[in-house]
Amino acid sequence: SGPKKEELQRIIELMDGFKASKALFTASEMCVFDLLQSQPGLDAAQVAQEIKASEKGTECLLEACVSLGLLKSKERKYQRPVYKNTDLAKRFLRSDAPFSLHGYIQHCNNTVWPLFSHLESAVREGSNQHEKAFGKKSKDVFQDTFYNSQEIKLRFMNAMHSIAKVTGKAIATAFDLSRFKTACDLGGCTGAMAYEFTKAHPGLSVTVFDLPAVVEMSEHFHPLHTDNRVSFVAGDFFKDELPKADLYILARILHDWPDEKVHILLNKIADASTPGCGILLSEIFLDEDRRGPSRGLLQALSMSVGKQRGATEYSLLLESHGFITAQVRHTDNFLDAMLCIKDVQC
Ligand code: SAM
Repeated sequence: SGPKKEELQRIIELMDGFKASKALFTASEMCVFDLLQSQPGLDAAQVAQEIKASEKGTECLLEACVSLGLLKSKERKYQRPVYKNTDLAKRFLRSDAPFSLHGYIQHCNNTVWPLFSHLESAVREGSNQHEKAFGKKSKDVFQDTFYNSQEIKLRFMNAMHSIAKVTGKAIATAFDLSRFKTACDLGGCTGAMAYEFTKAHPGLSVTVFDLPAVVEMSEHFHPLHTDNRVSFVAGDFFKDELPKADLYILARILHDWPDEKVHILLNKIADASTPGCGILLSEIFLDEDRRGPSRGLLQALSMSVGKQRGATEYSLLLESHGFITAQVRHTDNFLDAMLCIKDVQC
């Protein structure tokens, strides 16, 4: 029989997926959503003038954004349509929204997109494509690529900050943490997650532990912070002594590293922990049959050294370091979470 409508639709959706992503990235990069937030109701010529772009190109971009549900257009008799943000754009795409993903979208456009354009080589070679994409070899993407220039570092930190703000509350409130008084957020970046933890748990203090290049920027992300239960310590979690804590938070850390480094880090946490101490792990948990979610499996394609795992695999990994899984939460947000407690036997 001939092709069915749904079959063709699915294939077309997949073939066009990259065009939709790039339209979103471009509109975001050119600050279209910020402009239409401050001046709703502009027509294509007015938008083009403000973003310093061609009228024809801008009109195509605006129409594409309408078709993707990011903008709304209003037809006017004998005049050109005018444009406004949809609720989705208001909530997530303007750069000053509390749950703005603008920072993460910029990271997708400037870092993930170039890596994915070398996907074929990545698959053939099974290796890091940073050299092809950015002209530089990178053994440790953080120290060799992201933190080599102030501009790239800030872009990366903005990306982490935006995801942590959107997902932080769901992770911080996933479990009853009242037994813990002190936590250390290893690789806690800007501290966005740490502030969600102290907001959710009045009796908890959180130390954010990250590389010196990151910790020196903490004021930039929280210039007005008044919560003295969040503090920052600079160090390398593979080499330096870890701050003492009842609970170690590992959010989006383990998937970045090869097994031998994961074991070094987990050994260090186990050595620093007494029975009853915990690890709160937050990652995208793959389905047990590894058939989804696509988001996790697609992310794995651009990573060369680390890997994505399911909840059972993470449980076994942490158990091999003396931490027994107490609870697992699949959230409806970007990340899932697991709470593991150090066994009395260890
Ligand atoms: N946990 C944060 C979150 O979920 O938003 C950030 C996750 S980001 C993928 C990984 C973090 O680990 C970065 O902030 C990075 O600077 C930090 N990191 C990488 N290598 C590190 C090291 N050797 N010691 C300490 N932190 C490190």
